[in-house]
Amino acid sequence: MNTIEAKVVVLGTQAVGKTSVVIRYVGGMFSKAVSPTIGASFFTYKLTVNNYRVKLQVWDTAGQERFRSMAPMYYRKANAAMLIYDMTSADTFYDIKEWVSELKRNVDNPIVMCLIGNKCDLSDNREVSVKEAQEYAESIGALFHETSALKNIGIEEAFLEVAQQLIKLY
Ligand code: GDP
Ligand code: MG
Repeated sequence: MNTIEAKVVVLGTQAVGKTSVVIRYVGGMFSKAVSPTIGASFFTYKLTVNNYRVKLQVWDTAGQERFRSMAPMYYRKANAAMLIYDMTSADTFYDIKEWVSELKRNVDNPIVMCLIGNKCDLSDNREVSVKEAQEYAESIGALFHETSALKNIGIEEAFLEVAQQLIKLY
């Protein structure tokens, strides 16, 4: 069986639920390492997809995330990016554009992008429609999923689809 390793960076405005999504995904079977120089931590997660062993190194910010505040090393050689907004906050959705341009500025290899509207358990307070998000995702060539870290909705599916796209890049 072929093995591929990929670096996945998680991006998005503070409090959209990045850490919650990552913890939910890797929960139980992770090894966490901290890189003080980069101001971030990463988790390793292994899955098997279409006869490939995929080892994901998922990077999460240490909580000081602001545009242009992330060390270039955070983005370096990333193979995938989870672009997370809070679907109850339009501002966090509009922020994604800035994260994408930061990503493009720092990564020159092909990268799989996945737009994620988190907190879908709070859809009564929705400020971003599925249609608007889907159209934006399409315009930047990204996958799109709505998730809830709280209720464990959509997260596994999002990472699985990212892994499937990653295999195509190798
Ligand atoms: P980060 O700053 O982007 O890493 O966000 P955190 O993971 O620290 O989460 C920020 C806050 O949002 C915390 O109070 C979480 O409990 C809450 N939160 C995260 N994901 C969800 C979700 O899917 N639904 C709801 N209702 N709250 C969430
Ligand atoms: Mg966090």
